[in-house]
Amino acid sequence: MRGGDDRPASPVRPDGGKATTPARAAPPGPRGLLRRLREVMAEAGTVDERLARVVRNIATNMVAEVCSVYLLRNDDLELYATEGLNPDAVHKTRLKVGEGLVGDIAAHARPLMLADAQTHPQFAYKPETGEEIYHSLLGVPILRDNRVIGVLVVQNKTRRQYMEEEVEALETIAMVLAEMVASGQLSGSEDLVAVTRAPTMPFRADGRTLSEGLAIGTVVLHEPRIHVDKTIADDIPHEKQRLDAAVASMRDQVDRMLEAPDSDIVGESRDVLETYKMFAHDTGWLAKLHQAVDSGLTAEAAVQRVQGDTRHRMQAITDPYLRERLADLDDLANRLLLHLAGKPYQSAAENLPDNAILLARAMGPAELLDYDRRKLQGVVLEEGSSVSHVAIVARALSIPVIGGVEGVIARVEPGDMIVVDGDHAQLFVRPAPDVINAFQQSLALRQARLAKYAAQREDPSVTRDGTRVALLINAGLLIDLGHLDETNADGIGLYRTELQFMVRPTMPKAEAQTAIYRRVIDHAGDRPVVFRTLDIGGDKVLPYLGRQVEENPAMGWRAIRLTLDRPALLKVQLRAMLEAAAGRSLHVMFPMIAEVDEFRRARRLLDREVQRLVSLRKPVPLKLAVGTMLEVPALAWQLPALLPLVDFISIGSNDLMQFMFAADRGHPKLADRYDPLSPALLAFLHWVVQQCRSAGKPVTLCGEMGSRPLEAMALLGIGLERLSMPASAIGPVKEMLRSLDVPRLADFMSGLYRSPEHSLRAQLEEFARENGVIV
Ligand code: PEP
Ligand code: MG
Repeated sequence: MRGGDDRPASPVRPDGGKATTPARAAPPGPRGLLRRLREVMAEAGTVDERLARVVRNIATNMVAEVCSVYLLRNDDLELYATEGLNPDAVHKTRLKVGEGLVGDIAAHARPLMLADAQTHPQFAYKPETGEEIYHSLLGVPILRDNRVIGVLVVQNKTRRQYMEEEVEALETIAMVLAEMVASGQLSGSEDLVAVTRAPTMPFRADGRTLSEGLAIGTVVLHEPRIHVDKTIADDIPHEKQRLDAAVASMRDQVDRMLEAPDSDIVGESRDVLETYKMFAHDTGWLAKLHQAVDSGLTAEAAVQRVQGDTRHRMQAITDPYLRERLADLDDLANRLLLHLAGKPYQSAAENLPDNAILLARAMGPAELLDYDRRKLQGVVLEEGSSVSHVAIVARALSIPVIGGVEGVIARVEPGDMIVVDGDHAQLFVRPAPDVINAFQQSLALRQARLAKYAAQREDPSVTRDGTRVALLINAGLLIDLGHLDETNADGIGLYRTELQFMVRPTMPKAEAQTAIYRRVIDHAGDRPVVFRTLDIGGDKVLPYLGRQVEENPAMGWRAIRLTLDRPALLKVQLRAMLEAAAGRSLHVMFPMIAEVDEFRRARRLLDREVQRLVSLRKPVPLKLAVGTMLEVPALAWQLPALLPLVDFISIGSNDLMQFMFAADRGHPKLADRYDPLSPALLAFLHWVVQQCRSAGKPVTLCGEMGSRPLEAMALLGIGLERLSMPASAIGPVKEMLRSLDVPRLADFMSGLYRSPEHSLRAQLEEFARENGVIV
């Protein structure tokens, strides 16, 4: 039965925004429809006939003129049943994944609601269907075990806006359809079932490097696939009881985990668990689950339904913090499914193969730490930004991670062979033997190199001409402290204090900050630790600080600008540092200083805190060294005024480079556009280093630039004698410098600063080659 002119029944908002049809009652919920669908499924006839009846029922229930089901068959989306479109098009109309609106829904596994589908750039007209008279379209993916197996679409003649409840209703119906398809009784089901069978084709995918490195291993799914076999409830009150019991058992589990001892990363697991706890008691979430059961779903299907909503919301949100929180909620839904299945402790962390590569949509840092580090070789995330907590922790653990690989989980099977090439942000699934071979060779070379660096740990960091070079590490998490011993570095040249702030859901209290800094200083012993005050803003977001949308966050209200405007924040931090270093040495550094006055104001705050301790007769650090980052070019022209006021300078080449070349450091298209080995940057740094030297003030470079042997060589050539870098770079850089004659390089470079070339890379490489420098 299809509607006449008075349809649709829900509010119509034609283009231009003038309501021409009065709003009517919302369409009936899916509960009655689900009952009806079950009856249809039990009726006589071929499965195709039953599917045709199903779409007719959906069209009626959703007050739509058209309802169509497309199923993935031999990699195409094939029209399997339709009410409203030309019936002859069934089994004839085919779309590629990504083609047209239906293909778009399948490609992104997300619903689409359009008041005027035909003006959408993705609209692909299929004449055999006769669909040009339908303007509005609502489509949802049909998912089975998180894989797209088809698309369910309703269409209306009028340009109407679909409502959120209608999307949800259609998603519920799509779940039931997925169950029908998986039963394997549709025509051509041999091909259809293939979509739920293990795929066998090799493929390559790109993502973003969240942590560098190379790993080869087998796919382990972080969330074991939970098959929901039954979607329609027989007994709704019983399903509610099951849901409530599972929720209670899950809460209990989270509570008990919270009571367990803390992990190595201070407070971190705890913070994530606190977030879980908060969600587990969130009445909004629980109400949604109950509503889904009320609509006629089993408890498991209800959890998946609501989980689907969370995922759609996640796709629409760009704020990294909110995405993380939604990811936490998604993880909690998985936990709930395990409780419903009676397997609350099932975890991929148990029975981990020796060379596990973990795949997850998103993941919290605490979960990563659940895995045996000796067996976990790499991680691939569908979500994940470099500011996500898990990326920070993975870097500290030296686990290669690629993020942003959309839809990868649906394309793999546990046990698949996979190569994670974190250096080039790509992965290879089920690679051909020669690809594996090539990567195995580079992995072996890499491991041999690491072993060699470990053996060279004790070698002095002295160049061939006898120049002693201080090699320091960049750190930010307690887990980094081990690297200090492993590398035998001279100290921590940059302690990014904001990392500890970023891995928590709330601002760390003064005592917690003091405890962290004390642990760092204790561990470092005689080795200096340069604590940088909070460098937040830009891409480093603190959720609890509130956030303004900025057009140019990198040049916005960040780092020292923010903390000078919120002095209480800075005071608490400085106080914590002073207390932690009582009776010992303390190095404090301010980030993003752009003018001398900013340094003076920050320094004044620090001095006041010292005075405060003295007046309270509390112990103060034995020695206090205060310096600044040089990241903003303007500061270089104020060095004559600045240098007498500071104890040291540290060049932040990451930010300096972006401001020198006006090139966003996070922009993928600009990543290699300008070279740090350009005459401009090297001449600039040369000038800065000379000024610091004449003033007798130590200068370090702590940006990523110093971590690459050729770049590090050039930096020594311009006169730097202190480099701070990620721990993994210490070995290669030390090997380079031990083979270098600095005066010879300085002489060679002196003629190059005025070069008109884009880069001095080629010349420096040639110098290295001719002089036996290992780069
Ligand atoms: C830099 O800008 O070079 C630097 C070391 O600081 P961050 O990378 O933390 O901005
Ligand atoms: Mg910086």
